[in-house]
Amino acid sequence: MSLDNRPVYTGGCQCGAVRFRVEGALGDASVCHCRMCQKASGNFYLPLVSVRGATLDWTRGEPKRFRSSNAAWRGFCAECGTPLTFEAPDGIALAIAAFDDPTGIAPAIQWGVEAKLPYVDGIPKLPSEETMGDVTSAPYLAELVSYQHPDHDTEQWPPEERP
Ligand SMILES: [Zn+2]
Ligand SMILES: [Zn+2]
Repeated sequence: MSLDNRPVYTGGCQCGAVRFRVEGALGDASVCHCRMCQKASGNFYLPLVSVRGATLDWTRGEPKRFRSSNAAWRGFCAECGTPLTFEAPDGIALAIAAFDDPTGIAPAIQWGVEAKLPYVDGIPKLPSEETMGDVTSAPYLAELVSYQHPDHDTEQWPPEERP
């Protein structure tokens, strides 16, 4: 919460070169299956939340932008590639999973369903394993050291002691 009781959200890219702060209520949360969102995210669909009615500040770095149409720009981290924004004339939306805590930002609608990939709806029915579920087939996982920026703001990143 901010001083005047407005909600505050933070987030950023995987490497930490780009960080954002949102103050105020988030708008509509959605996923978009359209072919442009598939390409821009490198994924089956792109979850976005509008920050149109809030104040968005880039607190470290700023996204690089690709103009994906005459109407919209796609922002991403130039260092690590994390998709971060969809910027249209009616406002900016942020990638939900880029938030430090995306758990409370639940999508309420799907857009672009004409391009929905045929297997997407079957994913929840697939066999499910935790990351360490088969550590014998990927033994490097047992000694994995994450270089991902932590899910909170940092004074300095990357840490000096990184080898
Ligand atoms: Zn990055
Ligand atoms: Zn889309």
